[in-house]
Amino acid sequence: MGVEETLGDNIITTSLDAIVNWSRASSLWPLTFGLACCAIEMMATGAARFDLDRFGVLFRASPRQADVIIIAGTVTKKMVPVIKTVYEQMPEPRYVIAMGACACSGGVFDTYSTVQGVDEILPVDVYIPGCPPRPEGLLYGIMKLQAQIKKERNSFGAAIGVGERIAG
Ligand code: SF4
Repeated sequence: MGVEETLGDNIITTSLDAIVNWSRASSLWPLTFGLACCAIEMMATGAARFDLDRFGVLFRASPRQADVIIIAGTVTKKMVPVIKTVYEQMPEPRYVIAMGACACSGGVFDTYSTVQGVDEILPVDVYIPGCPPRPEGLLYGIMKLQAQIKKERNSFGAAIGVGERIAG
């Protein structure tokens, strides 16, 4: 009734949370960051054939402008301080995608020098299996993350300092 009846299809009603979630999910900017062979597939996903830009996914060279870090490759213990530093420099809300068997679980490298899954050091939102996953796998993982962001609650409240964001 009311406004919707008078204006018909010319109006939609929604919530502030839905608008914030929609805008975040539609402009996920990943950090330009790769660790090993999986990063080549990540680069291919960003190139012309798979065209990540159409999802609003634009790689950024600064963690301060990034929303998501794609851990693409083998995580060595030597790289742990670097990964933690760039992750901590990303503003909230920030997301993590573990791309490939190495990032998910250490892959075939069950060795003294390799972290057995990046979730030992960072909170992972989406895991993408494969060695390496194809670009379609990364696209699917990004769509899963977008769906997860769209289910978050109190996004607007958290943005203005009222309460905490509740994960989807
Ligand atoms: S999962 Fe396979 S392709 Fe990816 S970084 Fe590990 S060894 Fe390389």
